[in-house]
Amino acid sequence: MKTAVFSTKSYDREYLNRFNKSHSHELTYFEAPLNENTVNLTVGYDAVCVFVNDNLNKKVIDELSSNGVKVIALRCAGFNNVNLDQATKKKIAVVRVPTYSPQAVAEHAVALILTLNRKTHKAYNRIRESNFSLERLTGFDIYGKTVGVIGTGHIGALFAKIMLGFGCHVIGYDVKENQDLMDAGVKYYDLDELFEKSDVISLHCPLIPATHHLLDKEAFDKMKNGVMVINTSRGALINTSDAIAALKSGKLGYLGIDVYEQEEKLFFKDLSEEIIEDDEISRLMTFPNVLITSHQGFFTKEALEEIARTTLKNLTDLDQEKKPDNQING
Ligand code: NAD
Repeated sequence: MKTAVFSTKSYDREYLNRFNKSHSHELTYFEAPLNENTVNLTVGYDAVCVFVNDNLNKKVIDELSSNGVKVIALRCAGFNNVNLDQATKKKIAVVRVPTYSPQAVAEHAVALILTLNRKTHKAYNRIRESNFSLERLTGFDIYGKTVGVIGTGHIGALFAKIMLGFGCHVIGYDVKENQDLMDAGVKYYDLDELFEKSDVISLHCPLIPATHHLLDKEAFDKMKNGVMVINTSRGALINTSDAIAALKSGKLGYLGIDVYEQEEKLFFKDLSEEIIEDDEISRLMTFPNVLITSHQGFFTKEALEEIARTTLKNLTDLDQEKKPDNQING
């Protein structure tokens, strides 16, 4: 398939080229994201291949359709950035990579918890400057704490099991309960109860209208004072200005985020010589108890291999007029 691959970095090209040897799709790489300003680049392509921060709104889908594009291949699991109804209306198939190392994301959530708690990032910098003091590095035992998992699908379930291994009380909230987790000792509660009981809350549900700003002022108010919140799912699950207010009041004791509401303009870019115009991320960066990573939860070699393998197979299936298992519309 003649495919325009957007938002590509060196690692995307490396893994896609490696696995494309057995598929022979015609891949053209663009560093730019796909959005209203770049959709004109898609004339003459059968497919576009996109990632988490490409913006496939109604206008972009309409133009893709008039340019002859028949396939949108997502290199990720979440599809909140694609207007699915419009794609279906325009008979554009949307395929994704439903799981690519859920372990990678679950393990990254744990990394955020351990780093925020035991402040290893601060210790690393101190020791490099010959500062061997322990002042202000106090952490807490993870053992015995109550960890609330919101969304117990692939990633949330693995995360829950890791935290059970730490000796935590793991509680869950999901629209659909996971029997395997209940057998392992996880108890389900309603959302308000989970907010009240948890010392650590980790988000693993998708971003859909029902979960948009799931954590807002009202939710933070119900949580324990000093609660730790971890978000490796999607930025807009948290209302950022409410999180900033909760950090200022001390309600929120720790915030670890791998995703951010306005990440589209920031993440995956080196902006070290630029002026950051986003005041909310700038404010978040000033808190000593906030840890931000730029959507790297998925970033392991196993995940990159799986993304490349599945994406290329999705394109091959559609090329051979087979409906791929990973098609999410029509
Ligand atoms: P999944 O579909 O396996 O699990 C999602 C779970 O959320 C399901 O159990 C579902 O029932 C539940 N859910 C749906 N609506 C809900 C609601 N209103 N309230 C609570 N739970 C609800 O997905 P997954 O593979 O575990 O991925 C979870 C999320 O992680 C994805 O949506 C994606 O946004 C994010 N993700 C992030 C990265 C990263 O690099 N940081 C990588 C992959 C995925």
